[in-house]
Amino acid sequence: MIRFPKTLEDAAAGPGAFRAGATDLAERRRHRLQSGPLVDLRDVQALDEIVPLDDGGVQVGAMTSIAALAEDPLVQQAWPGLAQTAGGLATPQIRNRGTVGGNLLQEVRCWYYRSPRFVCLKKGGAHCLARDGDHLFHSCFDQGPCAAPHPSSLAVALQAFDARVSLHDGRTLSIPELIGDGRAPTRTHRLEEGALLTGVTVPPPIPGARSAYFRAIHRVRAEWPLVEVVAHLVLEGEQITQAHVVLGGVANTPRALPAVEAALVGGPASAERLAAAAKRAAEGANPLPMTAYKLRILPGAVLSALERATERA
Ligand SMILES: Cc1cc2nc3c(=O)[nH]c(=O)nc-3n(C[C@H](O)[C@H](O)[C@H](O)COP(=O)(O)OP(=O)(O)OC[C@H]3O[C@@H](n4cnc5c(N)ncnc54)[C@H](O)[C@@H]3O)c2cc1C
Ligand code: SF4
Repeated sequence: MIRFPKTLEDAAAGPGAFRAGATDLAERRRHRLQSGPLVDLRDVQALDEIVPLDDGGVQVGAMTSIAALAEDPLVQQAWPGLAQTAGGLATPQIRNRGTVGGNLLQEVRCWYYRSPRFVCLKKGGAHCLARDGDHLFHSCFDQGPCAAPHPSSLAVALQAFDARVSLHDGRTLSIPELIGDGRAPTRTHRLEEGALLTGVTVPPPIPGARSAYFRAIHRVRAEWPLVEVVAHLVLEGEQITQAHVVLGGVANTPRALPAVEAALVGGPASAERLAAAAKRAAEGANPLPMTAYKLRILPGAVLSALERATERA
């Protein structure tokens, strides 16, 4: 059964899984990883709007397409690292169809998880099959039982900008609160079944803020990043006064880099300081046998994001 509610109240009443662009959900249903009734969000009014706020921030509706977020002139101007992340992920087709809410709440892309033939830890089984099997594209900051990288690129960018998600029941959550610490074996995010995500609020840009996105990929199109980075810096003159540097593709949550951030803040955005900070990108990493190569990619990827943010690239 599929329902097409027109109001948020009707949508939130359930029962069933919410369907947004279905680029993730349809594949999981095809592989019998998900079943049961659906609540399609396509007709819910005003859920796909990008609304500038009085304080200079922006409210992005959950059903906003990833392409619309990437192409929005306000987002491009005020939070370029967010617009670049949206514009850089997946393919034009997926960006047109996929939504902000669905991107944040999609499931991991681990091949053991996606195959109906395997029952790994994430699906309630006893073991993480990737750990003893093929984990070439998995975590190099191994934080918890599931070794698959968190799938959402937008979560990486939204964490770097301290955005909050809004739920239909009135709660708002930071990205770390939405996603958790990666230790729950079967969970990729912490939303309860039936909770409806209505949008994301990005706070106003800080004067002097610069930001950029960089992804390291092994194929030009239609591929997940090996490593992705969002750098969000605040400069007063040449001095860096704030730094948020967040990685994707490396852990089962977006992963902040406090050592890099500390090395950036309090001095000029010189080429030497950016390079010295980027060298600390792999600090704290504990790769799996097949993912040590990501540690070699990290410093260059972080440096590229920092150079783009400060326009040194
Ligand atoms: C080749 C390829 C490459 C890709 N590369 C990337 C990449 O680099 N980075 C990246 O981030 N993604 C990537 N993706 C994944 C893609 O971005 C996601 O499939 C897409 O963003 C999901 O959005 P959707 O609207 O289609 O979600 P859906 O498939 O509709 O839903 C996903 C999940 O979210 C739930 N959901 C959706 N909306 C809501 C809501 N408002 N409230 C509560 N629950 C909700 C659904 O119930 C479902 O469980 C790639 C996909 C492919 C095929
Ligand atoms: S990495 Fe996660 S999804 Fe993949 S086999 Fe292990 S538990 Fe399952």
